[in-house]
Amino acid sequence: MKYIGAHVSVESGVSNAPLNAAKIGAKAFALFTRNPSRWTSPAIKEKEIAAFKENCERLGYSPDHILPHDSYLINLGSPDAEKLEKSRTAFLDELHRCEQLGLTMLNFHPGSHLKLIDTEACLDLIAESINMALEKSSGVKAVIENTAGQGSNLGFTFSQIGHIISKIDDKSRIGVCVDTCHAFAAGYDLATAAGYKTAWDEFEREIGFGYLSAMHLNDSKKGVGSKVDRHESIGSGAIGKDFFKMLMKDSRMDNIPLILETPNMELWQQEIEWLYSLESEQSE
Ligand SMILES: [Zn+2]
Ligand SMILES: [Zn+2]
Repeated sequence: MKYIGAHVSVESGVSNAPLNAAKIGAKAFALFTRNPSRWTSPAIKEKEIAAFKENCERLGYSPDHILPHDSYLINLGSPDAEKLEKSRTAFLDELHRCEQLGLTMLNFHPGSHLKLIDTEACLDLIAESINMALEKSSGVKAVIENTAGQGSNLGFTFSQIGHIISKIDDKSRIGVCVDTCHAFAAGYDLATAAGYKTAWDEFEREIGFGYLSAMHLNDSKKGVGSKVDRHESIGSGAIGKDFFKMLMKDSRMDNIPLILETPNMELWQQEIEWLYSLESEQSE
C-alpha cells in the first residue's frame, strides 16, 4: 500500500500538521518542527507535544508515515569549523524534537563542500556528523535526501549517498529519501521506462532498497541533468505523468511516506487523488 501526503504547514503549532494533512486526504505528511531558516528555535511546549500525538493517533497517522524535515541552514559537511559546530548542535536538537514528538525519522540534505574541500573529505565529514548525532540520540533514523547537485551540494549521486552510509556506525538508524525532482535534475532520467529501470538498478547497487525510507514526489521545471532544483506540479513538468504511473505500480515504494513538495498547494488534494487513482488502474 502507498502512503501519499504532502509537506504541510505547522502555522500556530506542530499539532496542526496532522489536521492539515487530513484536510487534503493525505495518508502521510512531512513537517518542520522548528523554523527552517533560523539557527535556534524555542522548545516545543508540552501541550503542543501532547496535542500532536493525540491528533496523529485520532487521524490514523503512524510515525512510520511522518517525515520531519530539518532546517535548511544545517550543513553537516561544512568546511568552516564554526558553521560545522553550529550545524551539529542544530541537527542534534532536530533529532531531540523528533524524539519528543514520538517520531522515528528525520529527513535532511547531506551537506555542501562550498568548493573549499574535496568531495570525499566532505562526505566523510557528513558521516562523522551523523555518527556524533546518532550517538547522542535514540530511536530516530537519520534519513539522507538526494540532491539536485546545485552549487556545491553533495548527495546527487547514489554512490555518494552509499559512501556516507558505508561510514555510519549504526546502520539500523540510517535511511534514504529519494526526491524525484532532485534525482531527475541530477541526471537520472526517470521519465522513460528504460531510465526508470537504470536509476533504480543503480540505487539497489549503490545503496540498497533496504535503506529506502521515504520519497519526495515532485515533477521538475528543468530538464534531466540540469542540476537545477525547481519543483513542478505532478505531471506538469519535464518528468511527466508516465513516471508516476510506473512508481504507483512499483511495490518497492510501498509502506513508506511519499511526500509532495510541489509548488501549488491548492493542487495537493487533486494530486494525491490522481496518484491513488493510478494504483487501481488496470495495466495494459
Ligand atoms: Zn525534497
Ligand atoms: Zn528541492
